[in-house]
Amino acid sequence: MSTAIALPHPAPQLPLAEVPTPCYVVDLGFLQSNLDVLGDVQARSGAKILLALKGFAMWSVFDRIAKVLPGVTSSSLHEAQLGHDKFGGELHACAPAYSDEDLAELLPICDHIVFNSLSQWRRHAPAARAHAERTGHRVELGLRLNPEHSEVQTPLYDPCAPRSRLGVRRAELEGVDLGELDGLHFHSLCELGSDALERTLAAVEERFAPFIEGRRWVNFGGGHHITRPDYDRDRLVRVVQGFRERWGTQVYLEPGEAIALGTGVLVASVLDVIHNEVDIAILDTSATAHMPDVLEMPYRPRIVGAGEPGERPHLVRLGGLTCLAGDVIGDYSFDRPLRAGDKLVFMDMAHYTMVKNTTFNGVRLPSIATWDPEAQRLQVVRRFGYEDYAGRLS
Ligand SMILES: *Cc1c(COP(=O)(O)O)cnc(C)c1O
Repeated sequence: MSTAIALPHPAPQLPLAEVPTPCYVVDLGFLQSNLDVLGDVQARSGAKILLALKGFAMWSVFDRIAKVLPGVTSSSLHEAQLGHDKFGGELHACAPAYSDEDLAELLPICDHIVFNSLSQWRRHAPAARAHAERTGHRVELGLRLNPEHSEVQTPLYDPCAPRSRLGVRRAELEGVDLGELDGLHFHSLCELGSDALERTLAAVEERFAPFIEGRRWVNFGGGHHITRPDYDRDRLVRVVQGFRERWGTQVYLEPGEAIALGTGVLVASVLDVIHNEVDIAILDTSATAHMPDVLEMPYRPRIVGAGEPGERPHLVRLGGLTCLAGDVIGDYSFDRPLRAGDKLVFMDMAHYTMVKNTTFNGVRLPSIATWDPEAQRLQVVRRFGYEDYAGRLS
């Protein structure tokens, strides 16, 4: 496994020997393929597609993304600042609540700010108005709705689960005049298809029709798996076009995952192999620190050249570097026993990894690299060290 491996897809050769581990490597060719798909959907549907920084914020590739997508959406002041500094274009914000201090810093840089409740809107709208009068920069304000229509099966990931804190329900809007409010927003999908969007949109239009009337835009949130090969993009185009025709509004989509889906890997090395009923490889990475969704979702990442237990002759449990007993990525089978020094390639590790990893146990953060398949060039754009661990403590 230390030799060059063929990535799935049209398959460039990543020179594994050159990759310092652990390391996230994003393939610029695969990223461009995703951007081509998203650019085509924008052109055909008339929707604007924003990158949700929450899912993917590797700013060394923002120049490429900004050639296709008009802007980003942020879920905090710091994400908004990153978008402002490194991306440019339209800057949107959507968070469960904003402090007065954060709002004062968001107003000068944001184009849209979406509020999660009527009380947040009423609290902050005067500051937005005052900011516009003082500076001439009018930030468009929106309200997040709770469609009360669940498509996501796991409650942890379902913004429409009972007692959800995310978005305003129809009942709360009874008798409310939304007045000058510019837009509406809903986000209730996660890794789903355009059929789920179509059903959600029907629920939104049925419940909130009087409030959609007259708005300048409606933001359909994220969770659209647009770049997955089996995603029905023609349906997405139809659904967006139909909505735009019915309501005469601008439509926004703000996926995170769809931008980076299938574009990156995490390369790790085997440090040791021990035995306790099964062979257990200790890697220089960690499920909990470097790929937290493996434990949180949970899911089992695919590994290049490895199979399900039983598929290949050698069963190995893959474990991480932290003290957490459950820091286990899973059981896999290989063609030969693993040895210290072998490199493993975990697939689809660009999104919700580098934005979410931690320095728990002081474990070194994975480096960040790009692979340019045309130039056949690996570029390590960032390495992390002791300072990054110490710098967030005092
Ligand atoms: C998480 C989130 C997104 C992006 O979701 P993906 O699943 O990465 O597409 C977009 N908008 C909001 C409000 C979110 O919370």
